[in-house]
Amino acid sequence: MKINKFPDYIKDYLIPKTSGNIIYKCLKCKEEFNIEKLLYVCPKCNSVLLLYDTEFERLKKVPSDIWRDIFDYRKMLNIPALKGIYLYYEFIGPVIPIDSIVYLGEGHTPCIEANSKLQDDFSQLFYFKNDGLNPSASFKDRGMASALSYINYLVSSEKISEILAICASTGDTSASAALYSSYLTSKVKSAVLLPYKKVTPQQLSQPLGSGASVFEIPGVFDDCMKIVEALSENYNVALLNSKNAWRISGQESYSFEISQDFDYDLKDKVILVPIGNAGNITAVLSGFLKFYETGIIDNLPKIIGVQSNHANPVYNYYNDENQNRKFIPMTVKPSVAQAAMIGNPVSMPRVIHLVDIYNKTADCSKVFFVSVSEQEIIDSQLIANRNGHIICTHGGETLAGMVKAKKDGFLKEHETAILDSTAHALKFSNFQQLYFDDNFDQEYNIKPKSKLKNFPILVKASGIEKFPAPGEPLIGNDFNTFVKKTAEEIANYLNLAKVK
Ligand SMILES: *Cc1c(COP(=O)(O)O)cnc(C)c1O
Ligand SMILES: [Zn+2]
Repeated sequence: MKINKFPDYIKDYLIPKTSGNIIYKCLKCKEEFNIEKLLYVCPKCNSVLLLYDTEFERLKKVPSDIWRDIFDYRKMLNIPALKGIYLYYEFIGPVIPIDSIVYLGEGHTPCIEANSKLQDDFSQLFYFKNDGLNPSASFKDRGMASALSYINYLVSSEKISEILAICASTGDTSASAALYSSYLTSKVKSAVLLPYKKVTPQQLSQPLGSGASVFEIPGVFDDCMKIVEALSENYNVALLNSKNAWRISGQESYSFEISQDFDYDLKDKVILVPIGNAGNITAVLSGFLKFYETGIIDNLPKIIGVQSNHANPVYNYYNDENQNRKFIPMTVKPSVAQAAMIGNPVSMPRVIHLVDIYNKTADCSKVFFVSVSEQEIIDSQLIANRNGHIICTHGGETLAGMVKAKKDGFLKEHETAILDSTAHALKFSNFQQLYFDDNFDQEYNIKPKSKLKNFPILVKASGIEKFPAPGEPLIGNDFNTFVKKTAEEIANYLNLAKVK
């Protein structure tokens, strides 16, 4: 819709101008740093950083119902830069000029109500937010749009030149980094490090297709991460892992969207997210806090972090009743929730910091953690996908987590659960195949249930000799017989009733 068609009271708000003052802040020593330079950890104490707007108070001066109208009306504007995560411009990156924003269609993923059979079976009203419907088929695009828009801004304003963007990945970060970097190909080159044979063929094909330099490293993600850190400390590269605080900012859009998806009414809402490197849950917590502080939402939703028993250091930390508990990194075992197979999450200090603030702000415990088995994860995924959903193994993890959270009393029957399916099912179809073929390595500890298996059926109807082949079509009677007999065989198999 053209800007002159909007109501007068909202017009001036719709196309935002740069504002605010964004700085990096160290979570440990509280030191603040200018954003004109790319920083990933505190130069003083080496701890992780978050971005803060020192002029955030100005956002509280806009009445909350005006904010809600701004976001709702802005959806009708046809300005590409504001169609993705920057619909929430003032809350995500208000110092980035609109013409530096990179928009590839990320965000505003559908929140799909679970079908009635699933809701009956699980005795719960729940939704999947399908973040697999992002451009590179995972939620990582939210953060990458933010990180690359910021880099684009730095390059365009000649604050930096010739960027090599680099990341370690369990698959999806590299797919996303390579995609967004390739869009800026004349300004940004990209390189990705992947744990050898620990990403799916689809995930490997993505950065290759985008033209990135792809390095496979023996070991697991945590090993790749150390190498990328060594590179970023010693060479001139831009780090695109979630250590990069701009990634977190962009991923906050997930919380803003859920707020908008439910018309800003988050009473009795419960958000379930899988945890790997813990960037996602950091962003989810931070996003809801920002909307709460500005009055855009009246309630902080419950947040439930889900991990696999094979990679659950965050769960273990919060499950430890000891007041002086320490975070203990773990050695991970293979998981079908492969993108979350991380033993030493980079964002753990951010999680500890924000969980504390979240609970204090809500004045009660609002953040919980559960751990689920590999069997529960993949069974849940397959069941959901048999009910019209397109969730990945991590979506399966959140569904398994929902069951566990009900058992543990964190989720009540009158509440509405929103499950984060972080990627598209197609990225992880190899795990589905391993399940159908009963071919999982023992370590996964997965016993396929025959009722969840499925195989293609080759139909070569009996009583016919000639079959069509590529470049060799059948003609005449041969073709008619082939069609008739094959149709009969399928009808037989399916027990179809004849038309009278
Ligand atoms: C990255 C990723 C996760 C884990 O998110 P973190 O921010 O690392 O906790 C979960 N699911 C998918 C599909 C991912 O790509
Ligand atoms: Zn510091």
